[in-house]
Amino acid sequence: MKPVYLDNNATTRVDPAVLQAMLPFFRDQFANPSSAHALGASVSAAVRNARRQLQALIGAEFDDEITFTSGGTESDNAALLSALEAAPNRTEIVTSAVEHPAVLTLCAHLEKTRRVKVHRIPVDCLGRLDLDAYMAALTPRVAIVSIMWANNETGVIFPVARLAELAKEVGALFHTDAVQAVGKLPMDLKSTLIDMLSLSGHKLHGPKGIGALFVKRGVNFHSLIKGGHQEHNRRAGTENTPGIAGLGTAAELALKFMDDETTRVKSLRDRLEGGILQRIPGTCVTGDPLQRLPNTANISFEHVDSDGIPLLLSRIGIACSSGSACTSGSLEPSHVLSAMKTPHAAVRFSLARDNSEEDIDRVLEVMPAIVGKLRSFFGSGPGNPVYA
Ligand SMILES: *Cc1c(COP(=O)(O)O)cnc(C)c1O
Repeated sequence: MKPVYLDNNATTRVDPAVLQAMLPFFRDQFANPSSAHALGASVSAAVRNARRQLQALIGAEFDDEITFTSGGTESDNAALLSALEAAPNRTEIVTSAVEHPAVLTLCAHLEKTRRVKVHRIPVDCLGRLDLDAYMAALTPRVAIVSIMWANNETGVIFPVARLAELAKEVGALFHTDAVQAVGKLPMDLKSTLIDMLSLSGHKLHGPKGIGALFVKRGVNFHSLIKGGHQEHNRRAGTENTPGIAGLGTAAELALKFMDDETTRVKSLRDRLEGGILQRIPGTCVTGDPLQRLPNTANISFEHVDSDGIPLLLSRIGIACSSGSACTSGSLEPSHVLSAMKTPHAAVRFSLARDNSEEDIDRVLEVMPAIVGKLRSFFGSGPGNPVYA
């Protein structure tokens, strides 16, 4: 049977058109875009074209606000480290308790090695940011605020445009990790006060190992990687031209499929959620029902071990995840679900435009038996493994 892939927040399938757009840069278009000859100029033009395709997707005012990087992780690191370097008198960072490890691990490292103070703003049981705590942490000591646009585990969306306005009032830079939001939500950065934004190719049907950092014009930026003059002196190293061409095409396709994402993909997600809740008692949807990505279903199950469901589904060719890929398998509860004080195991199904109704039907067909089996193994007495 054809595998059913419902783990698109971990990574997505490269769109066939993206692969086609990349191939010439492994063949006759192999030149270095910095070279002065005609072959180089043609590749350089392709890089410029990809920059414009990304500019259109996120609604940036200028194409030179976009710098290609190796992915979401590098973009996050570059944004935070640049802000600290640009404002040596400001030594605090405001972030949330539910960020991706690309932000949280860096913050912990900075706390340990650089005497940076980090405010990790908590969330409530629906995963919504504690706005009072956010306001209280904003002072002129803050160099940068880094709050994700949408959470990778729950799909909960934060009000980043408003949060950026508040950060501006104390003169702090505002960065958002928008890796899960770009391509799924319409964006118009030029009408916001967001200074920096991270995105990643492989979360929007582009290749792995390519991403971008948006830096608004006028923001004082200090590069993370030192070397040559590539990317307007913002990111040294010969450009990943196949990746850049692929990301550009992925951005153009994302714009084209945006309506599909917010209608068809959302209705598939809702059918999956509704079907599970209706068929299986002791289940509920995790995360703010009003502000959520259209593709993500995070469902909690009473009286089962969180890894059990993905494991049994995997044996019959269905891919999903418990919490996030970065924490599952480690036996540690997800930091996102812990921050939400979710008492039960949770499973994340994340959809994309290549999913079909048949995919959803197959999951709905097998889920009751799988959950029943796990519940009969574990019983419901004390010692039943659940999230702390
Ligand atoms: C996947 C992800 C990242 C990391 O992006 P890479 O390109 O894999 O480095 C960062 N933040 C979020 C929210 C993500 O989902």
